[in-house]
Amino acid sequence: MKIKDVLIIGAGAAGATAAFHLAKAGKTVTLLEMSSKELLKPCGGGMAAAVQQWFPFDLMPAVDEVINRVDFSWNLSDPVIAELPGSSPFWIVRREKLDAYIATKAIEAGAEILRPFRVTRVEKQEGYWQVANDSGEKLTAKAVVIADGSNSPWPKKFGIGPSQQHYAFTTSVRLERRGSLSKSTAKFEFGLVKHGFAWAFPLAGGINIGIGSFIGQHVTDRKVVLEQLLPALGFDPKEGIRTDGLLRVWNGHHSLNTDSLIAVGDAASLCDPFLAEGLRPALLSGYEAASSLNSWLEGDKKDLNDYTKTMKSKWGDSMAWGRRISQVFYRFPKVGYQLGIKRPTAPQRIAEILSGKMGYGDIATRVIRRLLFSADR
Ligand SMILES: Cc1cc2nc3c(=O)[nH]c(=O)nc-3n(C[C@H](O)[C@H](O)[C@H](O)COP(=O)(O)OP(=O)(O)OC[C@H]3O[C@@H](n4cnc5c(N)ncnc54)[C@H](O)[C@@H]3O)c2cc1C
Repeated sequence: MKIKDVLIIGAGAAGATAAFHLAKAGKTVTLLEMSSKELLKPCGGGMAAAVQQWFPFDLMPAVDEVINRVDFSWNLSDPVIAELPGSSPFWIVRREKLDAYIATKAIEAGAEILRPFRVTRVEKQEGYWQVANDSGEKLTAKAVVIADGSNSPWPKKFGIGPSQQHYAFTTSVRLERRGSLSKSTAKFEFGLVKHGFAWAFPLAGGINIGIGSFIGQHVTDRKVVLEQLLPALGFDPKEGIRTDGLLRVWNGHHSLNTDSLIAVGDAASLCDPFLAEGLRPALLSGYEAASSLNSWLEGDKKDLNDYTKTMKSKWGDSMAWGRRISQVFYRFPKVGYQLGIKRPTAPQRIAEILSGKMGYGDIATRVIRRLLFSADR
């Protein structure tokens, strides 16, 4: 029996990042991915350029468009425009391209990938992890990284992450032409979607449109929203490839590791509960998980608890404020738009949040006080 250092379940953004950093540090690592090839992924693909800090190779080959302007609207009118300052702080990627790019770098660094390999069993036996698929293929390792996204059953099984999951209801539409969306511009629309917002992010020769509802069980009628949004962007109301999905979002501070298992990305419920930003925490958690596992495998420390602590300070503390903002903003979205987005200082603040320069904690108390005070009147 060959014992690997680490098995990673899921070759998405989080899993591929962990695989790259483990392989680069000389660890034996296998990525297990259920899909036989990269499929179209329901994701807007917007991410702060600040994610580059977690990679020694250039991410630009995976970037379709660099954003320097954000258009906001309420019911497709009442526009607000934010110019993003500085050098290209916000990027748009095709997710399938980004994931494949990082996975390729991981393989070049020495990682192995098995696909299609749909993990159906994960258990610890005599100190080692056994990970298997339905065909009975089985691998053994000292540690496991759970990176299989929003439907992952493993955090619950191993008692990590939130005991109650909170989900955003999402719809994604991929269109392979640009419509009327201007170059280098991302669009956020707040009035059409109940308890959430819609977005349009440009791709090279295409566009990602999405809808997200963040509180309650009410799912906005996507057909009604798309019938208004698509023509406003120069498309037929029925155009595009559509996918509905549930996205696990951040729901409290919890342990994200056991003694030899770590959850990353959506499986660890890290996605931003206000703006659905899940790529930055996926890449950050993949990077931090690898760093923690590397020193544990080297015998430099006795457990993986520093991973949970680091994710709390570098991400969770800001998300705790993001969740509070989300709960107030999406209950009173019209007030939120007037007082949050239309303030003269808002475009600058939004740019800083989107580019990762500022966390929600930096703006939260002022925003929440303003929203609650106005909603009470
Ligand atoms: C509509 C929509 C729009 C979004 N837009 C944005 C955006 O613009 N910006 C942003 O930052 N975030 C966005 N997000 C969130 C972002 O897509 C996620 O947070 C991100 O995909 C998390 O990456 P991940 O690697 O954790 O999970 P995933 O990308 O879901 O990867 C998980 C991988 O695991 C594999 N897998 C699953 N089960 C198994 C199994 N049993 N065995 C083996 N492999 C398995 C899957 O095939 C997949 O490849 C959006 C999400 C949605 C739904």
